Amino acid sequence: MGALSIGTILLRDATLVATFDDAERELAGGWIAIDGNEITSVGAASDPAPFAERSIDASGMVLVPGFVNTHHHFYQTLTRAVPAAQNAELFDWLVALYPIWARLDPPALRSATAIACAELLLSGCTTASDHTYMWPNGCTIDDEIAVASEIGLRFHASRGSMSIGRSKGGLPPDACVEDESAILADTARAIERHHDDARFAMTRIVVAPCSPFSVSENLMRESANLARAYGVHLHTHLAETLDEERYCLERFGCRPVELAERLAWAGDDVSFAHAVHLSPAEVRRLGDARTGVAHCATSNMRLGSGIAPVRALVAAGARVGLGVDGSASNDSSHVLDEVRHAMLLQRVFGGAAAMSARDTLRLATRGGAAVLGRDDIGALAAGMAADIAGFRLDGLALAGGAVHDPLASLVFCRPPGADFVMVNGRTIVEGGGFVKFDVARTVAEHARHARKMIVP
Ligand SMILES: [Zn+2]
Repeated sequence: MGALSIGTILLRDATLVATFDDAERELAGGWIAIDGNEITSVGAASDPAPFAERSIDASGMVLVPGFVNTHHHFYQTLTRAVPAAQNAELFDWLVALYPIWARLDPPALRSATAIACAELLLSGCTTASDHTYMWPNGCTIDDEIAVASEIGLRFHASRGSMSIGRSKGGLPPDACVEDESAILADTARAIERHHDDARFAMTRIVVAPCSPFSVSENLMRESANLARAYGVHLHTHLAETLDEERYCLERFGCRPVELAERLAWAGDDVSFAHAVHLSPAEVRRLGDARTGVAHCATSNMRLGSGIAPVRALVAAGARVGLGVDGSASNDSSHVLDEVRHAMLLQRVFGGAAAMSARDTLRLATRGGAAVLGRDDIGALAAGMAADIAGFRLDGLALAGGAVHDPLASLVFCRPPGADFVMVNGRTIVEGGGFVKFDVARTVAEHARHARKMIVP
């Protein structure tokens, strides 16, 4: 641990501490006591706070559990707003971008990871799951893990894959796909090298074939076997678009959820990104199996994919969190934006009471933790990881909102970013800026890589 994370810390005098604990306590004038990387107690102004070696003034802020982003593709920060893919639906969007992504190399992947992690952190996110499914030109999951670890984000790295190229009837060009035995061998290597099962783990590996239209049924099955042999989680895209549904019906004679179930992809170690096009019976089955769903509202709007039945999934017992999805289909890694969009999108067909600001923040905290299979993040309570985001309430965006409801105003008014972010007891952001991360240098380097992707 670095100098900033040693010993006991008291975050004190917050305007509000929104715990998202089991009792959903919101503590006015609240404080959070931390020892090392763990929260030891929380309280309101009227509760006596323990002595700490260091104290941090949180006055004028609302403190929330660091947000959990359950689905992303870090490398896609290099191809935001690419003109050919600005107005396309998913399959055409992919066809436009695959050849560009085939130029990804390790320095570009590291730079993209730094940009995504920095943007996530500044939006109040402290844990993210990334899903990279192409590893061209020597890229490895180690590139991403090294960068995320250095910047200090809690990271679930999904070892994604594609194995069915165009010559075999798949969507991606052959240059973007890998041999299935090589995929499984590298996934096992990544788990053995990086996966940490322990409480407060900073790095976990997830087994993550890209989607039913880019890998074989055999790889889906073998991936599930591998993940269960090691006790790690499974993740893939599912039921995102009607094109996918048609493809599944034609190729496999069944709908996406049924295909997943046939391949043993159901249960509390499985999560699906999107799950937009579900029948009521499929919603019930996902709920009964406690399968996870990464809801990506912005991406679903951006690609015109549809509106996921989020309320029904939560009611059925599915684990539901939020994901910003890849930065080429969002084109932002701002988790608070995602919270706002998730709330608004449910209201489009469900009415103004379909989802509240607190409901949606709960998805971004406790919900996301559940999707990633973690009970040590997502709430501010004794025994939880010291992952905390603080938002100042005196900025322009919250004027006239924070005075009425500081917590809900984070969603309705959406401030530009967090002012304080702590991950695992380490202060990463203070005063709205990074303690030690050079944004300007990283953005300049990233722009060079992004240009190279288009004009090699
Ligand atoms: Zn995605």
